[in-house]
Amino acid sequence: MSKEINITPETSANTEVSNFLRQIIDHDCANATFANRINHDGQALPSVITRFPPEPNGYLHIGHAKSICLNFGLAKDYDHIPGGARCHMRFDDTNPAKEETEYVDSILDAVKWLGFDWHHHDQAYQFYASDYFEQLYAFAEILISREKAYVDSQSADEIHHNRGNFNQVGTPSPFRDRTVAENLELFRAMRAGKFQDGEHVLRLKIDMSSPNLVMRDPVVYRIRHAHHHRTGNTWCIYPLYDFTHCISDALENITHSICTLEFENNRPLYEWVLNELSEAGALQHPLPHQYEFARLNLTYTLTSKRKLLQLVQENHVDGWDDPRMPTIVGLRRRGFTPESLQLFCERIGVSKADSWIDMSVLEQSLRDDLDPKVERGIAVLRPLKLILDNFTQEFEACSAPKHPHHEDLGRREFHLTKELWIEADDFMVNPIKGFFRLSPPKDGQPGSRVRLKYGFVIECTGFDADAQGNVLAVHASYFPDSKSGTPGSADYKVKGTIHWISTQNAISAEIRMYDRLFTDPNPTSGDKDFLRLLNPDSKQVLKAFVEPSLAMSHIEQRFQFERHGYFVADRNDYRPERPVFNFAVGLKDQWKK
Ligand code: ATP
Ligand code: MG
Repeated sequence: MSKEINITPETSANTEVSNFLRQIIDHDCANATFANRINHDGQALPSVITRFPPEPNGYLHIGHAKSICLNFGLAKDYDHIPGGARCHMRFDDTNPAKEETEYVDSILDAVKWLGFDWHHHDQAYQFYASDYFEQLYAFAEILISREKAYVDSQSADEIHHNRGNFNQVGTPSPFRDRTVAENLELFRAMRAGKFQDGEHVLRLKIDMSSPNLVMRDPVVYRIRHAHHHRTGNTWCIYPLYDFTHCISDALENITHSICTLEFENNRPLYEWVLNELSEAGALQHPLPHQYEFARLNLTYTLTSKRKLLQLVQENHVDGWDDPRMPTIVGLRRRGFTPESLQLFCERIGVSKADSWIDMSVLEQSLRDDLDPKVERGIAVLRPLKLILDNFTQEFEACSAPKHPHHEDLGRREFHLTKELWIEADDFMVNPIKGFFRLSPPKDGQPGSRVRLKYGFVIECTGFDADAQGNVLAVHASYFPDSKSGTPGSADYKVKGTIHWISTQNAISAEIRMYDRLFTDPNPTSGDKDFLRLLNPDSKQVLKAFVEPSLAMSHIEQRFQFERHGYFVADRNDYRPERPVFNFAVGLKDQWKK
């Protein structure tokens, strides 16, 4: 396994976007490796064709976003070269039992939402490996005829056991020397449904003593009497990944087939299958090539569809799109934008070294995307009443810019009244050292002074509490000549500024606060039980108040709530009469040590 590196916001900012794949493509373009190709209809083919090949067995996660940005991103960037470039959307749907149409739809949505497209010159390049079943079957017969494949009738256990291991060469199957005629007859009978699951498999005849275990006569077809989401009950034998993937790439004229590092050992097999078929005249050169890059591992979360499915099925989260999930639908509901995810993928780059990316790199990408463009607003998350006892007018009109650096976006208007909501933790009966917000008079000293942002300076005069000492309301008096923006207001020197909302026009809102899903930075490394490492406090629902302008948000509108961070109007639950906002990310990295 390659050296592990860790990428944090500090290191990522200085890292050049890695481009070993671009160098390979540049080299192929310079050498015209894939130039002047035509397809079977005589149409010119692009010089670069990549593909994104998910298995439709779950929702896509942030790791897939890396693969999408890479494959579709390369196609976008190289489309200007002679011949152009495109990326195919391919569903690797050869495993009937685990795949569903629901997942196909969600994957298409995710790719589109991320800002990519499988159309090129108005043609859709959306494919399914299951569309190639007939072709794959024919190719398997070709290999059988050329004595490059045989039907093995050992049990799965025997096959596994006889494969050997790193220290021991494999033992050839007693069925390895079946004649071509016998193999063809058996393989056809397998297809015809004459056997039970597991009775026979088709194996490639390569080398039972190869140092690479993958090459010891890999199984390429097995019997599965199962309904397939697209081919129904047409088939009862299904091809395996190592056979399907390379052939699908070749049939689609893929040039650069990019996958994650764990497939490095499978590359000789990829090449073996394509070379054998090309020698048989079934495929033409130039053949596609496989290249590997390091998969994304992100701290405090996990990137495995199987484990994410477990979180959903066992109700550890509220579904695939729970804002704590690293799925693309989850990140979207959390407030992430396509731009922030693209920025993240750009920052982490592409390398051949396995690494753990710090969650803060992802969070910083969102901040950097949102800060310059989203409107500001005020939300009081944990409300406490503040009463300005000397405030006698009905209201004072106040306003604030929608964005501090974009006056052109306009202003928000709101009223300051005698009773206001403030944050409960902006008041302390017995202030700790360094607390510069509200505290009551004590030992003959006056109460503290703060500025109500966009309003007046106030001085705390006391508080109401119940018999248990719970604070019910805070009292203060205001200074009429201290209003923000009026002459002389700057003469008031205060150390704290707090935000507020008038109780008269505050809007009740549900605010969902989220924290990291796991307490451990690497919940899936080693033999850790990730389910025991779930953060029990990762979700908190608050009954909050927001300023009136926020009740007219559009769904998925993102904001910076002053002093709190970035929030998004929930895609599913936001209603103007009942606003719901999700916490996306704080104003700065709270996790920095
Ligand atoms: P999982 O184990 O989560 O199901 P997978 O690799 O089996 O992942 P696929 O649907 O087969 O998922 O993957 C589609 C594409 O996305 C593949 O090309 C794969 O290499 C890539 N991919 C999957 N996970 C990651 C990851 N963590 N980082 C980068 N690319 C990934
Ligand atoms: Mg997979």
